Amino acid sequence: MSKYIFVTGGVVSSLGKGLTAASIGLLLRGRGLEIRMQKLDPYINVDPGTMNPFQHGEVFVTDDGAETDLDLGHYERFVGRPMSQRSNYTTGRIYSSVIERERRGEFLGATVQVVPHITNAIKEAFTDLESDDVDIIIVELGGTVGDIEGLPYIEAFRQFSLERDPGDVMFIHLTLIPFLKASGEIKTKPTQHSVQKLREYGIQPDLLICRTEHSIPEEVKAKIALFCNVRRDRVIDEKDVDHSIYEVPVLLHKQKVDDLVCRHFGFETPAPDLRQWQKMLDVVINPKHSIEIAIVGKYISLTDSYKSVFEALTHGGIANNSAVTFRKVESEEIEKNGAEKLLAGVGGVLIPGGFGRRGTEGKMAAIRYARENKIPFLGLCYGLQCAVIEFARNVCGVKEAISAEWFDEEGDGDLNKAFVALMNSQQEVTAKGGTMRLGQYACALEKCSRARAAYDAEIVRERHRHRYEVNPAKVALLQKHGLMISGRNPDSQLVEIIEIGDHPWFVATQAHPEFKSRPTDAHPLFKSFITAALRHAGNGATA
Ligand code: GLN
Repeated sequence: MSKYIFVTGGVVSSLGKGLTAASIGLLLRGRGLEIRMQKLDPYINVDPGTMNPFQHGEVFVTDDGAETDLDLGHYERFVGRPMSQRSNYTTGRIYSSVIERERRGEFLGATVQVVPHITNAIKEAFTDLESDDVDIIIVELGGTVGDIEGLPYIEAFRQFSLERDPGDVMFIHLTLIPFLKASGEIKTKPTQHSVQKLREYGIQPDLLICRTEHSIPEEVKAKIALFCNVRRDRVIDEKDVDHSIYEVPVLLHKQKVDDLVCRHFGFETPAPDLRQWQKMLDVVINPKHSIEIAIVGKYISLTDSYKSVFEALTHGGIANNSAVTFRKVESEEIEKNGAEKLLAGVGGVLIPGGFGRRGTEGKMAAIRYARENKIPFLGLCYGLQCAVIEFARNVCGVKEAISAEWFDEEGDGDLNKAFVALMNSQQEVTAKGGTMRLGQYACALEKCSRARAAYDAEIVRERHRHRYEVNPAKVALLQKHGLMISGRNPDSQLVEIIEIGDHPWFVATQAHPEFKSRPTDAHPLFKSFITAALRHAGNGATA
């Protein structure tokens, strides 16, 4: 039977619960244990797919097409296991399943209630990951202890801990120890209150991980232990890291977190082998090169909106022994001030995924600038669609080229000039949630293309999240003017990857390769893009 770790957060949100949970997952996996991870989100949306990136940050997509919380990206990057539909549940999803069952009469006339019906459905969600070969399931609860929405989850954890042996369940609470500048003191009271709240709900944390700006002195740790009813050696300090979030696992390992977890569950395993991780970290801390990449997007001020893109660029840098700095450019700023002014001097230009007409002229101006000035360019999803329209307008001479997305949105343009269009099977779709081409699709790569060289494979599989596609009726015209279709879906023949031969490195993909990049195993397209950028900037990198 699998063991369970429940991770809750206290005091404030955005403490990095996902990162901490992922770091613990990495350490335990390093000890040879089989780990599964799950995020429970207390909001009512069925999934984050319909949420504004400003509200929620990136929507992380899994192989099987789940639109999930961005914490799953951390889980995959750290634990190295693909997540799935079963890795993320929201209150909306839990309630809809219970309500559907009620409509089917499955509750046999009972009054359907939060306890036990919703709490049972929550328990089913995490026990569904249980199997003989899974040692530990780490379940992270979104939000903060004390939130109204979180209560049924905490209640489900409490019930579950009584159904299992005490040694099978562990509660880890992540909390904040603020530092008051004025008095120069670190304060434990908010943590005391948050643990009090948790205990009121019937849960006693086994391990406290304290986020802090400054190391916590021994006597303060002793005080936290005393007031929170936790053993002294189980009060861990997670100080802000100096260089990179990838330092967190090492920090926790130094304080024996993985050892404490294993002792709690009675696992006797060797210390984790962190050599590969440490080697990667050494490059992050002490890179030989540095390169600046411009990322041009619509929600660029909020890094979380493109979390995996920034991560994948960093990984591409690590694989080239280089730091990557980001020049975040609002596409509408390019419309006002011109690409030249805002992009001058960068090593490469990246256009990430996006939705809607606003800001697209700026994106296309950035693409044109990169294309004409032979600056390495990587387009992701909408980035590919904008690159196709830019090419149609400025190389093929079809000035009115548009995406059908703009037409559908504001009746803008002539659909006969749509180089990016809805495919027939999707034409009738009116609902917004879960109706895109989602999840992993195959792509066959053209011989002698940059994509093929980068991937070093004939067929690759990447994750998708989009409604529109390059219009097959326009492909011949694009090719005639020199656009290379270097990847196609082998079943539908839809365009997956484009590139321009007469350019040092101009590649765009309909997929989201950023989701599959790992710190110790950079995605080939990102690696190759950064190599090209370093070469462009004269940093002496060799392909
Ligand atoms: N808006 C585009 C589409 O729906 C691209 C989506 C994306 O970049 N993820 O096809």
